[in-house]
Amino acid sequence: MTTTTTLARHTRPKPTSHIPDRSIYERRESVVRSYARTMPRQFSRADNVWMYDNQGGRYLDFLSGCSTLNYGHNHPALKQALIDYISTDGITHGLDLHTDAKAEFLETFESLILKSRGLDYRVMFTGPTGTNAVEAAIKLARKVTGRGLVIAFTNGFHGMTLGALACTGNAAKRTGAGVPLSHVSHEPYDGYHGPDLDTAALLERRLSDPSSGLDAPAAILVETVQGEGGLNTASPDWLRAIADIAKRHGALLIVDDIQAGCGRTGPFFSFEGMGFTPDIVTMAKSLSGMGLPFALTLFRPELDQWLPGEHNGTFRGNNHAFITATASLRNFWKDDEFEQDVQRKGRLLARRLDAIASGFGLSTRGRGMMRGIDVGSGETADAITSACFAAGLIIETSGAHDEIVKVLAPLIIDDAALSAGLDIIEESVRAVRTGSYGIAAE
Ligand SMILES: *Cc1c(COP(=O)(O)O)cnc(C)c1O
Repeated sequence: MTTTTTLARHTRPKPTSHIPDRSIYERRESVVRSYARTMPRQFSRADNVWMYDNQGGRYLDFLSGCSTLNYGHNHPALKQALIDYISTDGITHGLDLHTDAKAEFLETFESLILKSRGLDYRVMFTGPTGTNAVEAAIKLARKVTGRGLVIAFTNGFHGMTLGALACTGNAAKRTGAGVPLSHVSHEPYDGYHGPDLDTAALLERRLSDPSSGLDAPAAILVETVQGEGGLNTASPDWLRAIADIAKRHGALLIVDDIQAGCGRTGPFFSFEGMGFTPDIVTMAKSLSGMGLPFALTLFRPELDQWLPGEHNGTFRGNNHAFITATASLRNFWKDDEFEQDVQRKGRLLARRLDAIASGFGLSTRGRGMMRGIDVGSGETADAITSACFAAGLIIETSGAHDEIVKVLAPLIIDDAALSAGLDIIEESVRAVRTGSYGIAAE
């Protein structure tokens, strides 16, 4: 306890002697900016689990770019691979041309990820962000099935472009569309109506009843853990039932593994070992390993019914991301050592969060290294994350009302730093709950 407390104290950023000039952001950057509002510092540098601002402040990163930095900031092996590639004039941009970097990525992904898991997926390089992968997935499902409707779930988050946004539940995000978001039905996720109502059985009933008003869907789109929607977890039983329903009703099962994948819940794919195989999988966030934009849509070979160029995009070949992604697979996924360590840290995280939560009559959510505390309201969560930030911990919220304080620490974090961050969370929850840290009026 002494060492972690010392470390926690050590992480506290130096108080800034003067307010740094940030007027350029007020003057020029669109007000649409969001994270920068709750963390009003200018960051200069980052390595491993740490970020540094330009005033000498050091922060422990429990946000990890929303799970984009599972292997931490600037991992030396990934950084070196990229430096080597750039310094020998490797291809940076080549549309979707064959490149050495792409071949190495595909071969490594095939051998270390697909073959060892008995998975046979075609790999589609979409535009480089998660929402591009989701757009490609639902477009392909509609094309292959000839149906229009996609079933998504309450509290689901799938991205900001119109197709993916239509699949997203959050009203504040949906409002930005400006046009009707259509061809999606939001059905209740696992546990949405409490533990006693089986929402998979409800969906089956609706799809089997020709008079329910629910059309036969092209796809069922689901997250195994709802990253933005409150860290609700779907049980393996429920997910298997949903997979069966998709099959029975001629719909394709799409697992959006953009946030929960790449080891966040333990295994590379969050659905591993659950006894079903999705027809389509979307990946992004930590896929490049170093925070470079890179997204993929994976699907069963029989579904590969695109016409050449039918779904296109200028940035479908981020060769720098191929390099760092390949290095991340070789570094972390050549055996199950990393996965086992993530599972172990996930249990540690669960124990600590449960202890903090129960001390204040709160509850926890999540799976693996993707967990949080439900603190009851967005206002309280906001106050807690602000107190954390003041103490040198970067952490964000999740949920319909932003009421979950969400821990997304880098998966490579050592136990001491993990403990130090959790100490800050504990202190902050206590400070806010006992009223010694005021709820910010914003
Ligand atoms: C982040 C996220 C997306 C969207 O990814 P972007 O890169 O922000 O477009 C889609 N689905 C899930 C589950 C996500 O967490």
